[in-house]
Amino acid sequence: MPKPVIDYKKCKMSMTCIDVCPMDVFEKEKDKVVVKHPEKCIGCRACEVQCPHGAIKIEE
Ligand code: SF4
Repeated sequence: MPKPVIDYKKCKMSMTCIDVCPMDVFEKEKDKVVVKHPEKCIGCRACEVQCPHGAIKIEE
């Protein structure tokens, strides 16, 4: 099961992951982005590749 993990030391809140994820895994919650629905992740890696700050890793 692919599991998206956000590195909050790198996240600059660009919201890119929210925009590019086809499965709506991420949501903005108060002042940060959270992995709201990890069970929906299909492992496409769009978030990992497109995050401008390299803040997301997909763990297998
Ligand atoms: S790997 Fe794909 S489906 Fe999974 S969280 Fe990232 S963009 Fe969404």
